[in-house]
Amino acid sequence: MKGRAIVIGGSIGGLFTAALLRKEGWDVNVYERVDVELAGRGAGIVTHQPLLDVLENCGAGIKDLGVVSQQRSAYDRAGNVTRKFDFPQLVTSWDRVQNLTRQTIPDSHYHLDHWLDTFEETGTGVRATFKNGHVDEADVIIGADGFRSAVRGQLFPEIQPQYSGYVVWRGLADEADLPKDITDTVFKDFGFYLPENDGEVIGYPIAGRDNNLQEGHRRYNWVWYRVVDQAELDDNLTDANGTYHDISIPPPSSGPR
Ligand SMILES: Cc1cc2nc3c(=O)[nH]c(=O)nc-3n(C[C@H](O)[C@H](O)[C@H](O)COP(=O)(O)OP(=O)(O)OC[C@H]3O[C@@H](n4cnc5c(N)ncnc54)[C@H](O)[C@@H]3O)c2cc1C
Repeated sequence: MKGRAIVIGGSIGGLFTAALLRKEGWDVNVYERVDVELAGRGAGIVTHQPLLDVLENCGAGIKDLGVVSQQRSAYDRAGNVTRKFDFPQLVTSWDRVQNLTRQTIPDSHYHLDHWLDTFEETGTGVRATFKNGHVDEADVIIGADGFRSAVRGQLFPEIQPQYSGYVVWRGLADEADLPKDITDTVFKDFGFYLPENDGEVIGYPIAGRDNNLQEGHRRYNWVWYRVVDQAELDDNLTDANGTYHDISIPPPSSGPR
């Protein structure tokens, strides 16, 4: 055994790190604050070679990773194609990436319902204390606990996230619910629409529920990026019932108001 590692955060960053360390002979324990297996976060993920490489290298593999669209199409406001060219693109989903990497970590080393409270250096390594009272010691601790990382927060409290200046509206439509003229055309391509002075809309096919890749059972993923100022951001994060959400309005809430 090369060493012991504690990984905080059981999402895809933590899983990649844990899987790669395990392949190198490390004893790794992953701690995730959520108390159920993570699922259903985000939607489509456009793949690039580094993602495929890390999936292969960490032992997760790329089996049934996603849907390939062969062409890219740009549309005008009326829905006419203004440009089209060949550009094969494999698109996967957050769920599939998480699911493949999760399978590389034995349940005995993946601990749900463990919320890191604090950690301290011991002289020979590090000791992590969790809100449920659990304590673990290892040679290193790795913060893969997201953009509001508690690990980073303890080391560098002055570093705070800044609003990037844009929001994203996103949605999924079941292939079976779409009209045939859409499944024969728009559905197949990686599509772009650039509304004048109002961000960008993209859309592409992804796997259906339970990673179903069969024709007729896939989904169409669309994303609309919009530049909004801070006041409008707060409004965008307030749902139809007037409840403000920190990062995004989760289903089944509807909104914004
Ligand atoms: C609503 C939404 C939709 C998105 N959709 C897409 C998409 O479609 N395509 C795409 O490419 N990217 C998408 N992203 C971005 C993508 O989710 C992130 O880039 C990716 O998940 C980052 O992975 P991560 O493991 O670094 O962090 P995260 O996924 O943020 O995971 C951090 C994990 O750490 C856990 N954690 C936090 N604090 C503690 C603690 N103190 N103790 C224990 N555990 C802790 C959290 O519960 C979480 O599971 C989306 C993000 C959001 C918010």
